[in-house]
Amino acid sequence: MVRVRFAPSPTGFLHIGGARTALFNWMYAKAQGGQFILRIEDTDKVRSKPEYLDEILESMKWLGLSWDEFYKQSDRFDLYRQYADKLLAEDKAYKDGEAVILRVPQKSIKIYDLIRGEIVVDSKEIKDQVLMKSDGSPTYSFACVIDDALMEISCVIRGEDHISNTPKQILIYEALGFKLPKFAHLPLIMDPEGGRMSKRAGATAVTEYRTQGFLSQAIVNYLMLLGWSPGNNQEKVLMASALKTFSIKKINKAGAAFSLEKLEWLNSQYIKEMSAAQLAEALSPLVASKYPGTLLQGKALEDVVQLYKGRMNTLLDFLDWTDFIFNDEVKFEEDVKATHLSQDMRKEFDLLAERLSAVTDFNVKTAEEAFRGVVSQLGIEAGILVHPVRVALTGKAVGPGLFDTMVVLGKERTVRRLKEAFKQ
Ligand code: GLU
Repeated sequence: MVRVRFAPSPTGFLHIGGARTALFNWMYAKAQGGQFILRIEDTDKVRSKPEYLDEILESMKWLGLSWDEFYKQSDRFDLYRQYADKLLAEDKAYKDGEAVILRVPQKSIKIYDLIRGEIVVDSKEIKDQVLMKSDGSPTYSFACVIDDALMEISCVIRGEDHISNTPKQILIYEALGFKLPKFAHLPLIMDPEGGRMSKRAGATAVTEYRTQGFLSQAIVNYLMLLGWSPGNNQEKVLMASALKTFSIKKINKAGAAFSLEKLEWLNSQYIKEMSAAQLAEALSPLVASKYPGTLLQGKALEDVVQLYKGRMNTLLDFLDWTDFIFNDEVKFEEDVKATHLSQDMRKEFDLLAERLSAVTDFNVKTAEEAFRGVVSQLGIEAGILVHPVRVALTGKAVGPGLFDTMVVLGKERTVRRLKEAFKQ
């Protein structure tokens, strides 16, 4: 029976690297029909914070990483104490004040790592290990080994930064007479320069990606590809198909380089695939918090979403690009007004405003007809009018089709903005 665990310490937010460790454990469990356990390693009473625990659980749920069993080490202190007493009674450990210390025997320790193969460490390099601290709390390694053994974890999958803990933990397994699990140490996520993933390469907390407008499916898809590949250069990978081929042994040994561009690209692919209704639903809380009291909801919001869906990388792009729809006043992008509205086109704008206000059934077709009528009457090229009009309506030099934009803005506001464009 495959049983794996993710064991975060609630001493900080769920890091993107932690999320990938959780994901690989979860995928392995799902692929093998096994169980995924979430164990909170909150033995450090000072550094563990309830708000971090809440945030970790929230992030796990958002990513869809559901667990079959849940434990908190702070509920299990008696158990660790009992095992410490056992080792003391067997003289495998000794006391130093209130602390309990493991006697480290001289031997060579073999780790068989599913990703890295065999690793041999001489215990000469390991000094006697603290198991219980003088304040009565267990050390990370001691609690971790007892729990992994009692929870019958079949394979310990964790970040490579823990590789130096593994030989020490093997000594604890042996002292306690527990069977060893398998081990797999995942390569770390690196920034594009080859350093350890840091804020410079992209946000490190999962929650930040959420607030930046990334979809959980895109994050999961992206994390899955950091160190593993389904083959055939596939980038957009559905979980169901990934689970058919996922294997720990196929994880790359080398560090995985994080690329925000690639994540954004994947996110844009997931956004494109959503229907306007689904996307409007995902956007609606963001819209409501940025524009409290907005009346643009339901079908009207969907129409706007439809216009931008194809070009969004993140959900926040939508908010950045559509301010002109939610605000009464147009905010002009820097230089855009000077560049595109420098020439006084009052006459052209007034005529267009007049024609548009006369349209009774205001839609893309009728708006375009009115516009074409104006340019042909004035004998000018359409292009001469298109850019200044877009800028006057949206404050931006680029955007979706002009007539679509007019329609989502509505006739009244379109006409008003045209009339006010050259007023001081
Ligand atoms: N609590 C440890 C951490 O957050 C877990 C390490 C492990 O998986 O054994 O790094």
